[in-house]
Amino acid sequence: MLCQRDEQRGGAARLLPEAPGAGKVQNIAPGVQNVDPGMQNTHPGVCKILTLDVFADSTVLRERSRIRPELVPDRSTSVQPTSRVLSSSLGALLLFQECIKPVKVEKQAGKAAAKIRIEADGSYFQIDQDGGAQKLEKAKITLNDCLACSGCITSAESVLITQQSHEELCKVLAGNKAAAPNEQKLVVVSVSPQSRASLAAKCKMGVLETAKKLTTFLKSLGVHYVFDTTFSRNFSLLESQREFVRRFRRQTEDRKALPMLASACPGWICYAEKTHGSFIIPYISTTKSPQQVMGSLVKGYFAEQQHLTPDQIYHVTVMPCYDKKLEASRPDFFNQQYQTRDVDCVITTGEVLKLLEQEGVSLSDVDPGPLDTMLSSAAEELSTHPGGGSGGYLEHIYRHAAKELFGIHVDAIEYKPLKNKDFQEVTLQRDGEVLLQFALAYGFRNIQNLVQKLKRGKSPYHYVEVMACPSGCLNGGGQIKLEGGSKDELQHVERLYESPKAEIPEENQAVAELYEHWLGGRDSEKAVGTLHTEYHPVEKANTSFNIKW
Ligand code: SF4
Repeated sequence: MLCQRDEQRGGAARLLPEAPGAGKVQNIAPGVQNVDPGMQNTHPGVCKILTLDVFADSTVLRERSRIRPELVPDRSTSVQPTSRVLSSSLGALLLFQECIKPVKVEKQAGKAAAKIRIEADGSYFQIDQDGGAQKLEKAKITLNDCLACSGCITSAESVLITQQSHEELCKVLAGNKAAAPNEQKLVVVSVSPQSRASLAAKCKMGVLETAKKLTTFLKSLGVHYVFDTTFSRNFSLLESQREFVRRFRRQTEDRKALPMLASACPGWICYAEKTHGSFIIPYISTTKSPQQVMGSLVKGYFAEQQHLTPDQIYHVTVMPCYDKKLEASRPDFFNQQYQTRDVDCVITTGEVLKLLEQEGVSLSDVDPGPLDTMLSSAAEELSTHPGGGSGGYLEHIYRHAAKELFGIHVDAIEYKPLKNKDFQEVTLQRDGEVLLQFALAYGFRNIQNLVQKLKRGKSPYHYVEVMACPSGCLNGGGQIKLEGGSKDELQHVERLYESPKAEIPEENQAVAELYEHWLGGRDSEKAVGTLHTEYHPVEKANTSFNIKW
């Protein structure tokens, strides 16, 4: 159980800003009592089992991953980490945002800022005024540092996570083989395009070849159908577009109609519910993520086509992050009537690689198989949605809104970088008047800035594509770590992800067919119930320990 969460920490560490570079010297202002911006970016919805090292001279914090040390953020600061610390029965340490580990910082009157040098091996040296270097020792955060502030992962969530692993999939497949035919489950795997791109990069293949070979491999294990969540993302994009236009039109009577905030990232949703609760929830789009739309399609439409009840299908998704496991486990996606979830099991891209290794299979040696489609009218080749590796929500909604609200056809979209590459904005103007102002905010540093602006009534945006991971989903914590982990490699994954032909959701015939025949029209009650969800504020425990220092 905790091993999975431990890996999840990989995703968390990726949320931290990029390493400033080993060997560089950084200025540290002694005595500053702010919160470390790096730690503020710690993924709040993702527990991290860490060795958190705080240097004994109290000037530097470094968190070290036991499993994936390569993801350790190279940052230094004189300020205190913010994290939540929770004990577990296995003795691991789970760390979250907002806890504080107070550390002592020596002030030296009249002295210039201290300097810290980070070596290539990750060790820290304090550079004194005369240029002398002193290696900094580490102090560890222990369970005694837990402030019992709540908001961290609950034991119930931990249990749910254990139900979602590649071992669990193997168990179901083995059970299927041993069961009588009428007791066997139909096993469906839905693969995300981000995961496919990551696997393709790892196996040095194209995405189509990867998809075909992966289909063969999964079927050799006993999986019956392998689908692509690009198909379900069409619904997420279309519903988001229409929801935005509805909100825009009612902005005068509903002051929380805008900005509409994206809903496809469960890391962000988890943070929003736990940290900003009822303040932020009204702004979040109610449209389900592609994973959960796929869940509704497989356990709804596809089950009907197969003359099965939803509980007779075991639905697995392959996703770029661990947060998707928590998303699949939300009570909102549990079918009470059939006592089954829309998505029974989520495995990460990395877990697919483990499966391949476990079976002693190299994907490149597998014969390619034909791709499955849910509808005969669906395209049998791969497609993608333009607008970035997180789904292209901003671009699709922007184009649609420009046309629908102002009759403007948008050709190229020009992004204006703001504080960093993960915070950019796009503006539609006519005769100097701003008609639409959209932004993308990736990573928790940018998300926190956005929320603060919203709270102060200073956010100028109509829509924000919010994603928890810096660089978005292609950089998710469940993706395969490539050798070196350089920017070039991420760009290679991006190129692979973008390589299939771009598709426009409005023009997808299979999607239109499902809206018409299965959902009973775009605005039907069934369409709303199937494609939308709701969020719930998570109350913080009101204890005397719930203090922000
Ligand atoms: Fe998962 Fe994408 Fe959100 Fe990262 S940005 S937590 S990969 S959904």
